[in-house]
Amino acid sequence: MKRIVIKVGSHVLTENGAIAKVRMLALVQLIAELKAHKYEVILVSSGAVAAGFTQLPLDRSSIANRQALAAMGQPLLLKMYQEKFAIFDVLCSQVLFSADVFESAKHVAHAKVAIDTLLENNVVPIINENDTVSIEELVFGDNDRLSAHVAHYFDAELLVILSDIDAFYDKDPNRYDDAKRRAVVTTILEEELSAEHTPSNEFATGGIVTKLQSADFLMKHGREMFLASGFDLSDAKCFLLDNVHFGGTLFKK
Ligand code: ADP
Repeated sequence: MKRIVIKVGSHVLTENGAIAKVRMLALVQLIAELKAHKYEVILVSSGAVAAGFTQLPLDRSSIANRQALAAMGQPLLLKMYQEKFAIFDVLCSQVLFSADVFESAKHVAHAKVAIDTLLENNVVPIINENDTVSIEELVFGDNDRLSAHVAHYFDAELLVILSDIDAFYDKDPNRYDDAKRRAVVTTILEEELSAEHTPSNEFATGGIVTKLQSADFLMKHGREMFLASGFDLSDAKCFLLDNVHFGGTLFKK
């Protein structure tokens, strides 16, 4: 069995302020297929704030409101996942972390027992940051760094980031028409890691920098990261199920 972590960003999971149900279903179907092949899959999913917003449209510019929306949206998000996984006869579960879990070896060990047990029993752990008590995701990142920690500490070989962008380019493809895709990246420059965050919509605060930081962290720990489109899952599917690297970027030492 090969253990992987799949991280899906809020950009991919939301559409016009609501959960993008068709894309969620496609993701769930891919995970079911991966499980049927040779994979143990841990999912890291954003989307709680957007799900909460569909119930109560609070002003998202305030962090307090985003905390409240996350608290409302998280159970709704999980309910939607549960319904979709049930179509494929797959059980899923909710694991909420605060980022400081990874600062304590004891907490990591406890969490790993739970994750291992879920996976042994064929249950998909769906991890999100507990935004109500730990607001790091709401302030800084879009679960990119959390998912890199999850991959490392829970012993996954590979983190797959499904993004609104289909790969890492030599410059921002949304701003430059001549940007070229980088298929394989083996080193990340210091200035790329410290570049300004580039949030590109109000639900997505990670930008490419947190993805590079995640890739760098994993490469330093002998693990790999694959960045591919979450809108069109064919590149991820090819890579994972057919071993064919067509689109997307593989980060590896
Ligand atoms: P997600 O919400 O899917 O996690 P983000 O929107 O936070 O992703 O980050 C991806 C965005 O980063 C892209 O849409 C793109 O505009 C921007 N970006 C900036 N520089 C690059 C680059 N060199 N390669 C790819 N994307 C880049």
